[in-house]
Amino acid sequence: MNNSIVTEIKFKNEPVLEYKEGSPERIELEAQLAQMKNSYVDIPIIIDGKEIRTGNTEKCIVPHDHKKVLGEYHIAGKEEIKMAIESTLRAKSAWEELHWQHRVAIFLKAAELASGPWRAKLNAATMLCQSKTYKQAEIDSACELVDFLRYNAYALTQIYSEQPISTKIFKNRMEYRPLEGFVFAISPFNFTSIACNLVGAPAIAGNTVIWKPSSDAVYSSYLVYKLFEAAGLPKGVINFVPCRSIDAEDIILTNENLSGLHFTGSTEVFQRMWKIVGNNITNYRTFPRLVGETGGKNYVMAHPSANIESLTTAIIEGAFEYQGQKCSAVSRVYIPRSLWPDVKERLLQLAEKIRGKMGDIEKRSTFMGAVINADAFDRIVSYIEFARNSSEAEIIFGGNYDDSVGYFIEPTIILTQNPKFKTMEEEIFGPVLTIYIYEDEDFEETLNLCANTSKYGLTGSIFAKDRYALVKAEKALMHTAGNFYINDKPTGAIVGQQPFGGARLSGTNDKAGSKLNLLRWMSPRIIKENLIN
Ligand code: NAD
Repeated sequence: MNNSIVTEIKFKNEPVLEYKEGSPERIELEAQLAQMKNSYVDIPIIIDGKEIRTGNTEKCIVPHDHKKVLGEYHIAGKEEIKMAIESTLRAKSAWEELHWQHRVAIFLKAAELASGPWRAKLNAATMLCQSKTYKQAEIDSACELVDFLRYNAYALTQIYSEQPISTKIFKNRMEYRPLEGFVFAISPFNFTSIACNLVGAPAIAGNTVIWKPSSDAVYSSYLVYKLFEAAGLPKGVINFVPCRSIDAEDIILTNENLSGLHFTGSTEVFQRMWKIVGNNITNYRTFPRLVGETGGKNYVMAHPSANIESLTTAIIEGAFEYQGQKCSAVSRVYIPRSLWPDVKERLLQLAEKIRGKMGDIEKRSTFMGAVINADAFDRIVSYIEFARNSSEAEIIFGGNYDDSVGYFIEPTIILTQNPKFKTMEEEIFGPVLTIYIYEDEDFEETLNLCANTSKYGLTGSIFAKDRYALVKAEKALMHTAGNFYINDKPTGAIVGQQPFGGARLSGTNDKAGSKLNLLRWMSPRIIKENLIN
């Protein structure tokens, strides 16, 4: 019998560890990195808690040392995918009937494990698989991942406690049912924490989930699955199914029991999946919820009153941390002519400093690793070459690249006289930044230009000391960013503080790590009881 009324769970962000030489966290992480590099992992598909090996495998490689293979993973074929759907549906009734306090306890336990004994493992896999530095891995696969798990538990209890008004005669209550059917989660390569949340958020709300991880992050995703298993997640609640995109579309996305899609990745892929669901709409048992956080073309807008030091630091960190592969990364910048000489000098100094810190992410001093794979390398290089060969642009810093050992691309800064230049408009998803200089008196015009240059609307910043300028920018740029920053870089959103998501073609803006996102995985039922009949 469970008859306790639990008060709100408290939430606090996970502290960031520093990994100083000789610190216990550093020693543990180094040991874990060595262990992973010296062994070969054989990653199965996991359905109903059972490991399946199809023998159809792909390799897990290290982007900054691409000859190094960490292991391989098995790819589910049509038969395994069908098994996964059946298992997910079978697991549903026991999971949705389990009292929510037990569901929450499993995810809070996963958070405790990830914060403690699993921290080094999750960070090491993220560093090696996704080429993240100590700092970038720590803020992703440790802190943000733990925050998502704990925040969802906190937000769930808030939602469940929101109840309608009752009267003397009519007693009303809201039951927050999970969706009927199964949820399909598809994760991107760039954040282990996002992958964890794409499966964790629907599951904590009582849904069962099929998970297709990114082919570039299978190792770290597999460890997240094992983390849930270690925390006591029952079999079949999440099925781990690396598979080909075409099979995912044909078999999972079109299945009549699909109740929701939880996606993070590129705009084009999400649009494609939305079309598939649309074309199949008469075949589902419900209207599938489509939640997708997608691409961006994030900006920094400087006013003539901006503080040059904080502006330039924000541009460099925002554009080049994690090789520009954060969805929120800065990739277009607007600078007033009066500030340009000083801004340029400082930007080039800062860029020079980080160019010298590109390389092996296992060195504590490294600032940038490699980009994720050969396709990404070729795509980013094609933008650099486009700028190099254009009469409308000049590469004022970087522009070199080398994939002989790893997929390394220098931090690259392009200056253009065309505010609609290709690299001002399209998502590059790499360490390439484009700057446009405007005349000081054209600030308001330039705000409109910024607002109408890109099809995306994810993140953006305004830098100004002048309060009237800030107010103008906040208004003119209203629809350009779901996460808008004043005198700060547009990256580094923290769970519980700046819920994340954009608008326009950056996604459905359901704010990962918030009540808004959890509500998408629920279908509330209102129950009215007449007390006098
Ligand atoms: P991607 O779109 O290439 O892949 C994302 C996932 O979709 C992967 O698991 C991939 O295998 C899968 N996929 C690809 N084609 C598919 C298909 N036809 N059917 C089913 N699944 C398919 O994206 P990526 O390279 O992994 O990540 C980078 C992109 O993600 C960038 O555009 C970035 O802006 C975006 N992103 C956005 C956010 C956000 O919160 N808005 C966060 C992280 C990344």
